[in-house]
Amino acid sequence: MATSDTADKTPQLFGHPRGLTYLFTTEMWERFSYYGMRAILVLYLTNYLLLQPTIDHVWGHETMKRVLELIFNAGNPLGVQPLSSTIYGAYTALVYLTPFFGGIIADRWIGQRYSVIIGGVIMAAGEFILMAPQALYLGLLFLIVGNGFFKPNISTQVGNLYKAGDSRIDRAYSIFYVGINVGAFFSPLVCGSLGEDPNYGYHWGFFAAGVGMVIGQLLYIFALRTLPQDRIGRMKTAAPAEKKPLTASDWKAVIAIVLLCIPVTFFWATYEQQGNTMNLWAQDFTNRHLIPGVLDWEIPVTWFQAFNPFMIFAFTPFVVSLWGAQAKRNKEPSTVSKMAIGLFLVALSYLIMTVAVWVTGEHGEASWLWLLAFFAVITLGELYLSPIGLALVARVAPPQILSAMMGLWFITSFTGNLLQGYIGTYFSTMTKDHFFLLCAALAFGAGVLTWLFNFPLKPILAARMAENVRQPEVAEPQADPHMEPPPAL
Ligand code: GLN
Repeated sequence: MATSDTADKTPQLFGHPRGLTYLFTTEMWERFSYYGMRAILVLYLTNYLLLQPTIDHVWGHETMKRVLELIFNAGNPLGVQPLSSTIYGAYTALVYLTPFFGGIIADRWIGQRYSVIIGGVIMAAGEFILMAPQALYLGLLFLIVGNGFFKPNISTQVGNLYKAGDSRIDRAYSIFYVGINVGAFFSPLVCGSLGEDPNYGYHWGFFAAGVGMVIGQLLYIFALRTLPQDRIGRMKTAAPAEKKPLTASDWKAVIAIVLLCIPVTFFWATYEQQGNTMNLWAQDFTNRHLIPGVLDWEIPVTWFQAFNPFMIFAFTPFVVSLWGAQAKRNKEPSTVSKMAIGLFLVALSYLIMTVAVWVTGEHGEASWLWLLAFFAVITLGELYLSPIGLALVARVAPPQILSAMMGLWFITSFTGNLLQGYIGTYFSTMTKDHFFLLCAALAFGAGVLTWLFNFPLKPILAARMAENVRQPEVAEPQADPHMEPPPAL
């Protein structure tokens, strides 16, 4: 159902602008790259790179080790597992800090389209650099910088395909989120399998991640003709209206997003244990035989990283239709309530793991079915929070600072991942049931805080969504209806 003139004129596919398909596939390949590398990072570090003698050859390691120990362990030495957790934590954190700056650069100077291309090229280079063990930190740096340009600017382009008030925006982000997770699903299977296979090894996993990134870039460049010009591009070709300062309503929206960033940090801190300590749990404390004693094939450790993305695309249609049905009865939870529910579900997922420890005993191997249940519940939690947050920012942020606000949303993943890395250092020192209970308590507390935010924020956000906030200060975004290649980025 098209609800806007612009949308009516642009080429459509399955009821959405064709550009959505391209943004979906570009992001799918980018996330293939990101998650493929992420699936093997901790294993690469603990099983190979941080061990003697390889570690002596890594450029800058002594300095980085000291910095990490200072930040995460008051300057005391860290063993191999905790150190790898902190490298993983710092990397996954910084990857989400840079989007704030990438957003500002795009809003002010280069626009979202150039930013995505610059970011994609830098990230592809980063994956290839990682193939050389000594260049670990250099490769990570490239990925951190590249993602800063790429992530907020691809995300805002989804909302830009629609006019303000178009009811399809929420659904567009849920569809986009499926793209993210199709990539995230296949990547551990490809990069993880290559990395874990002694005939290939980790560097081939990084290579596959780099190839995925290159494919994503080529698709994006091809797709440019179907995407609306970004605000900077439009300002070059149209006379800008008077530059509007932020209004009182703009400021309220900014403050609401900033407030929500606090509990969302705790969401990521607990959610992101999946790639860190839960990866180690799958490796060291899980009986991964498919049906022990009957079908003894062992599920590879990295494949567990595919459970969450798989469930995202399996569950999305149900969750979206549940919300649709609730909306018809006027019972759909508000955006903030959905986020609170998301956090409660994360708490529940860690309670499941706590029970797994109690049932199996501290030193036993828990059935992989516990992990299956864990991933199912934490994934539902994610669907209630993450795509909803992206759509919220796209709908309520002031257009002049849209990418920066999207970057701010991603900063919650920075702070969350820092905290995640810190929490991860306790995995080998705490009893596992206490560790999981700690994660459950943090998510639950943040859920309560979000619930409380509902009282002041619900009316503010509802009013804001009803406003035509995405009305740009220059000509309307227009995808070229005739699919001509664009004259310029
Ligand atoms: N899984 C989502 C993605 O990769 C969300 C990540 C995040 O915001 N931390 O885009």
